[in-house]
Amino acid sequence: MTNDRHSSRRQKLIQAIRKGGIAGLLVSNSKNVSYLTGFTGEDSYLLIGPTNVQIFSDSRFETQLQMECPGVPAMIRNSKTTMIEFLAQELIKHKLPNLGIEATSMTVDVRDNLADKLGSVTLVAKTGLVEELRQIKDAGEIEELRLAVDQAERGFSIMKSMLMPTMTERQAAHDLEHGMRRFGALKAAFEPIIAVGDHGALPHYRAGLRRFEESTFVLCDWGAVSPQGYHSDLTRVWSTGKVPPKLLRIYGVVLNAQQAAIAAIRPGVKCQDVDRVARAVIEEAGYAKYFGHGLGHGIGLDIHEGPRLSPISSEVLKPGMVVTVEPGIYLPGIGGVRIEDDVVVTRDGYEVITSVSRELGG
Ligand code: ZN
Ligand code: ZN
Repeated sequence: MTNDRHSSRRQKLIQAIRKGGIAGLLVSNSKNVSYLTGFTGEDSYLLIGPTNVQIFSDSRFETQLQMECPGVPAMIRNSKTTMIEFLAQELIKHKLPNLGIEATSMTVDVRDNLADKLGSVTLVAKTGLVEELRQIKDAGEIEELRLAVDQAERGFSIMKSMLMPTMTERQAAHDLEHGMRRFGALKAAFEPIIAVGDHGALPHYRAGLRRFEESTFVLCDWGAVSPQGYHSDLTRVWSTGKVPPKLLRIYGVVLNAQQAAIAAIRPGVKCQDVDRVARAVIEEAGYAKYFGHGLGHGIGLDIHEGPRLSPISSEVLKPGMVVTVEPGIYLPGIGGVRIEDDVVVTRDGYEVITSVSRELGG
């Protein structure tokens, strides 16, 4: 990604900072720092405001900062000063009346310590200023997400081709992660969920010691992290033999719910309305109480980010948002079905960027 892209993101953030009534924002969330500068290291803070931009880091990252974000002045602390002392010393020079801090990433301990050393500078807790910008992906970010999907799908095919009845869920999860890395993923987007039989009824099961031969039904929820840190997120269920009739029935319901919700995606639609489309199909079929989670979430530098597709989400879809659509029905003691795809909100509708088969037989 070019420097221009990062500097235009910073310009947008400065507008939000002005609107937010603060003199500047101290960005502490490392993914937000990376989004705004291109710097991929950790433990660094970015000061950004109408009149200044500076990144505070330590000597481990000195060269990396020059390479990754030459346009952002870097302040490197020496090993005799703590980061908080260094930040306070430098920030005080700007004579800001107040300073925004990221309430969801700065610990109370750091906040108190910094407030103590900054004296008259009021720290103002802010939430979601950068995250709001991150919801709308530019063309380069959408390409990265396509790459993360491709890596996940290739890893999935490798894993499936290697499955044997005596293998455990955990062994398959290992093959899946290995496969994704073989195709260039940095790592798995999260610990893959591979659930054989009724383990699929636990929406956040991981992968355990059950063997594939113990059931004919499998649920897999997985994703990859692309080289620039973007996350894909998919879920598929499949059968290795005769499917219990109840699972076959809920599979049809979940697929209908998912397809109806995807078809409802376009700019200007409320996220809660997309959720409602899927929920109505599941309710109609009599399974309302077995679909307890929201319909989906944004993906990007985080595996879960805005916007949320849920019954309580007041957000509105905009072009460039990328969301998962993942309805599910979970029948305790029997099994669960969830089908999850990744969808880009386009200027006039949507594009599904995942393509691995949704067929049960595969
Ligand atoms: Zn998932
Ligand atoms: Zn998801």
